[in-house]
Amino acid sequence: MIEFEQLTVPTEGERIGIDNGQLVVPNKPIIPVIEGDGIGRDIMKVTRRVVNAAVQTAYNGENEIVWFDVYAGENAMAKYNEWLPQDTFDAIEYFRVALKGPLTTPVGGGFRSLNVTLRQVLELYACVRPVRYFQGVPAPVTHPEKMNVVIFRENTEDVYAGIEWEQGTPEVKKVIELLRTEMGVDIREDSGIGVKPISIFGTKRLARMAIQYAIDHGRRSVTFVHKGNIMKFTEGAFCAWGYELAKEEFPEQTITEDELYSDYDGECPEGKIIVNDRIADSMLQQILTRTDEYDVIVTPNLNGDYLSDAAAAQVGGIGMAPGGNLSDEVALFEATHGTAPKYTDQDVVNPGSLILSAVMMLEHLGWQEAADLIISGLEKTILQKKVTYDLERLMEGATKVRTSEFGASIVENFQ
Ligand code: NAP
Repeated sequence: MIEFEQLTVPTEGERIGIDNGQLVVPNKPIIPVIEGDGIGRDIMKVTRRVVNAAVQTAYNGENEIVWFDVYAGENAMAKYNEWLPQDTFDAIEYFRVALKGPLTTPVGGGFRSLNVTLRQVLELYACVRPVRYFQGVPAPVTHPEKMNVVIFRENTEDVYAGIEWEQGTPEVKKVIELLRTEMGVDIREDSGIGVKPISIFGTKRLARMAIQYAIDHGRRSVTFVHKGNIMKFTEGAFCAWGYELAKEEFPEQTITEDELYSDYDGECPEGKIIVNDRIADSMLQQILTRTDEYDVIVTPNLNGDYLSDAAAAQVGGIGMAPGGNLSDEVALFEATHGTAPKYTDQDVVNPGSLILSAVMMLEHLGWQEAADLIISGLEKTILQKKVTYDLERLMEGATKVRTSEFGASIVENFQ
């Protein structure tokens, strides 16, 4: 058994195992949980209650999540005198599936962000964002119900990898000089520089995860979104390597869009997934104008950043958008919004993002029945117009409820 500096592992419950790349989930898995800063406390309390109730109802007490509190952010500072203690990384890595509330980015803490650090240290290479519509949520488009996509955004490469040199520093001068003398590239002396690496390894493991997801969840298509018409050796290569991976590893399950028309007259054969690609700027139009043609989306980091928020906004759901960060062995599910500090401990904010992230977690565990209960409870609660302030102010005739009441209503509405 693993040893921690300051954590005591729950005596009940077991570690989630892995066999041939597949999770082996015991009846009582130990799940590390980072409560989060600010409103983290408000939404995590409610989320745990809703998840516990769903698991209890779905499995008559046979299954149970054994929550294991681990520390990050302000509570870690208080306990360990550091923002992200080693115990926390070790616990998430060892127990394999974890849930996390939002964390404040410490000013001058030497971190770009605690979230980015967690993803980097644990090598959680895929940021997975499902975006779908919940009937009754006010949305800015006419047919928000047409949206049902899952975005796989690369988490470790691209311009977000953080390889940057500040304008005016000796380092940036060296880079500019190197580019001029060795590569024949002229760059203005007063420039800052960022490097955008995109690798075969990084691309193919993301494409593999996304295509496998599409197969496992009966999805129709996988779309690579890139800006390869301009950035040929990074974005263009991302797209080419994506197709290559589909051909190499999923030849029976996938066909390309070109093959769909050349060999199948535009009719997708039963059981096949269409693999296609779109240029990023066109995709931002198409997700609005031809929303229901898209399903699973795979994209480098920066495109994914824009696309996930744009898609979530389209269904009125930025405040309710869930997310997961995954590697082949470890998964960390998290609310996608921040700590909204002005609402801390007031029991007023919307717990939807964290609750839906917990739904993703239950699906990842293979506990679909519990996940479905929560979704049905949430759908019904929104249809009853019992919502927190953020939705109430946008919905006509809605009743404003507290965070805890919203959670209780979801549980009452389990079907
Ligand atoms: P934020 O915490 O997401 O809050 C911005 C606004 O979004 C809030 O004032 C509120 O709007 C609304 N909002 C956010 N969560 C909500 C919820 N659950 N229910 C209802 N409304 C919600 O963004 P921020 O103020 O830019 O960031 C605050 C801190 O969070 C920063 O330290 C930042 O670094 C951190 N952060 C963490 C994460 C993460 O952990 N993943 C992500 C983003 C930011 P109204 O004021 O209109 O009600």
